[in-house]
This record gives sequence, structure tokens and C-alpha cells, in this order.
Amino acid sequence: MSDELLMQGLHLEQIGGEYVGLRDGYRFSMIKVSMGYVRLYAFVFVMQTPIEESMRKIIQKAVHTTCRIGGFKQRNDVLYVFPNIAPIQKAEVKLQKAETALTDAITTLKSFSFRTLDHCFVCGEEKSEEETVNRTFRQMYLPVHPSCAKELVQSAKQAVENEGTKTKNLPFSLLLGALGALIGLVPIFLGMLATGSVYAILYAAIPIAAMAGYKAGKAPKLAYATAIVIALSFLAMLFFEFWLWTSIASEAGLTLAGLIAEYPDTTPLILEDLGISVLFTAIGVYLSWRFISGTVDKNAKAAETIEKQ
Ligand SMILES: [Zn+2]
Repeated sequence: MSDELLMQGLHLEQIGGEYVGLRDGYRFSMIKVSMGYVRLYAFVFVMQTPIEESMRKIIQKAVHTTCRIGGFKQRNDVLYVFPNIAPIQKAEVKLQKAETALTDAITTLKSFSFRTLDHCFVCGEEKSEEETVNRTFRQMYLPVHPSCAKELVQSAKQAVENEGTKTKNLPFSLLLGALGALIGLVPIFLGMLATGSVYAILYAAIPIAAMAGYKAGKAPKLAYATAIVIALSFLAMLFFEFWLWTSIASEAGLTLAGLIAEYPDTTPLILEDLGISVLFTAIGVYLSWRFISGTVDKNAKAAETIEKQ
């Protein structure tokens, strides 16, 4: 079933690229959440007051489907309701299940007098001279004063500018990043000295150490920092691989080129080894991804979507 059909069936609107709805005074968005390879639909309610675990269980029981709690303005103030939709179900069944989950969730929230956020999500106040409007921000549907939305965008842009002034720290940060990548090699090296084997999983430590080094240098946390850290990590990995195979060759009294020329059978071995090293370095990049990708310019992008609504 396409998102459009579901959107029409549930009478949702599209604002700022998100599907949103307003029923009985309850504001919600319908998003898709990735869980591994599966993408699930979820209704997202940002609440005025936190939802405790006991309450989550009550709601979950009432809607006969999974509910999760997250945080936005305060801990536990976001409710996620996952309608029980399976990809193989017919369109009408999907729509019906989504509709039931949504209705039941709102009925339950209502019966316990839980309301969705009714104050501006930026200032949290009432302004006599200004009414709030409904906007989407980070996939949530929220009330905001137009002037507060403007301020939010402004301060996010300001943060990018401030971050940009840190470029003078870049050379030092690069140095520390490279040093970090080399330090990230230490576990592999020690493991090899101790056991005579290379534990590929330890390659994952390289990007994590490189990122820590880069951060310690206080250079800008802008998007290109991610590329730098990844490049440094792979360079360190290649450096180690080169050193490893050169020392293997020298034990046979050969250069690396000589080893490959004289023993063609080693080429697939080297390539396989390299492949595994790339894989585990990439796993390290993935593990540190949240840390790496949480850059200031990304935050600004999230804020900027408000401007376009
Ligand atoms: Zn406000």
C-alpha cells in the first residue's frame, strides 16, 4: 500500500514533508521507522506531560499493538504507536488496522486526560500577542510561535557560523585525528604480537579513536569532518596492512612486490585480508556514526525545514 493511500484513508495532511493529523485536539505525525531491514509505520504523539511505564502498558493493552516511549522536551514525553501492519496485508486491512490503532490510542489518552503538547515547543509559553501555528520538526507535529520558529532557525544558523570560526583548529585536529587513528591500530598490533594472529574485529577501533582525536582538537563539527575521519581511518588501516605484508615478505628476504611476483598465490590472500580489513574498519565507522554524523550543520538543516512550511 502506498503512503498516499494510507494518508488519504486516515485524512492526514502533508506538512514539511511529513504526514500529520489533528483529531479531537490530538496532534500526531505518521512516520516510518527503520528496524533493521524492516520499515514500520508509527504514529507519534508529543505529550504535554511525560508518560510513565505503567501508563505505556495501559495504552499498549488498549491499542493491542506495540507502544514505545521517547523523549523530546522532557523525558518520556513522546508516544510511538506502531499499528500492526504487515507488508503482505491487503490495502483495506492495513488501513483498517492503522485506523483502529489511531482511534484506540486517542480514546485511551483522552480517558486519562493526557493531552498532546499545547504550548509552543520552543518557548513553552503563551504569548498574548501571538497565536501558535502547527509545524513539523524532526518528524514531530508541534505547535510553535512563528517568531519562535524564526529564532530557532536563526540560532541554528548562528551555531553553524560559530562552528565555522573553529577552522583555525583544523590542522591540530587533523594531527590528533591521525594520531587517534594510529592509536586505534595499537590493539590490533598488540593482539598480533601476543597471539600471532590479526583480529579483524579490532579494526573497528580505528575510526572510533580517530574521531576522538579529531574532536579533542576542537576543530569544527561540520559535515566534512565526517569525511576526514573516515579517510584517516582507512589510511591507517592501509598503512597497517602494507606494513604487515611488507614484514611478511621481508621474513622471506623479499620486498612486497617481490613476494607477489615470486608467489602469485599470495595475491588472493592479500586481497582477502584487505577486504576483511575494509569491512571491519567500515563497521567501526558505522559504530561511531551517530557520534560522527551529529554535526552542527545537520541540526541546522532540521531547523531550516520549519522555514519552508
Ligand atoms: Zn514560542
